[in-house]
Amino acid sequence: MAKIWVLREPRRGDRAWNIYSLREAARLKRWFDGVYYSPRLRRLLAVFRPTPGTHVNRLVFEEMSDSVLRDAYRMECPEGCNRCCVIHSGAFMLDVEVRQLPPELRERVLRQPSEKLVTPGGKVRVYRLDTEPMGRCIFFDVEKGRCMLEELYGKRFKPIVCLLTYCTVFATRGGKKYLKAGYRVHRDGSVEIIYREASDEEWRRMVARMGSVWRRYRRVYLAKKAEEAEEDNAKSLARR
Ligand code: SF4
Ligand code: SF4
Repeated sequence: MAKIWVLREPRRGDRAWNIYSLREAARLKRWFDGVYYSPRLRRLLAVFRPTPGTHVNRLVFEEMSDSVLRDAYRMECPEGCNRCCVIHSGAFMLDVEVRQLPPELRERVLRQPSEKLVTPGGKVRVYRLDTEPMGRCIFFDVEKGRCMLEELYGKRFKPIVCLLTYCTVFATRGGKKYLKAGYRVHRDGSVEIIYREASDEEWRRMVARMGSVWRRYRRVYLAKKAEEAEEDNAKSLARR
């Protein structure tokens, strides 16, 4: 049976460790498969499939058999929601990721506020990306409703935190679509997520509902942009 590598769960209250863990995960980004929810383990699994021979840090990754994914739901982030990028995104990028960006984008990130953390694996600089109004990410294209990094350069240029963070609302399994119907907290503290199969129409409606935050933001953004263009126009006419 094939093996997969799963990122160990974050440690509550231990930011330095969690950033270290994310940095190790960022190194394996190109082999990132996806985030799954295993009903058997009652756990979200961030799955990586590095080619044999790749060094994997066992402190932050655990090896599992592919079979754990047999009944697992794959977390999805459908186009049109954008909730995580538009307000209070909390997005950030690690120094190892910034170094991989094309120069023009790298410069932009380097101008963002940052902090240096001392982690078990050494110092890591963390750059904030949530510095646009209302915590919008600097790489979010409000008009198109897309992540510029993904659109222009591909998914592996997105920050690892964006690849790993899922709301768990949307899922797929065996070619079918599912929506989260609820959750149950068990005595041992584990959380059981309950999914129900959804039709294309129910899925579309949920995307529209979740996307309402972005659409409202977009309306205000476009109105402000039009206002600014009008003001600029008026100023240049006055100068003539
Ligand atoms: S709320 Fe869920 S579907 Fe929406 S952008 Fe975030 S992860 Fe994607
Ligand atoms: S980097 Fe992309 S996916 Fe991440 S918050 Fe910014 S726009 Fe969204």
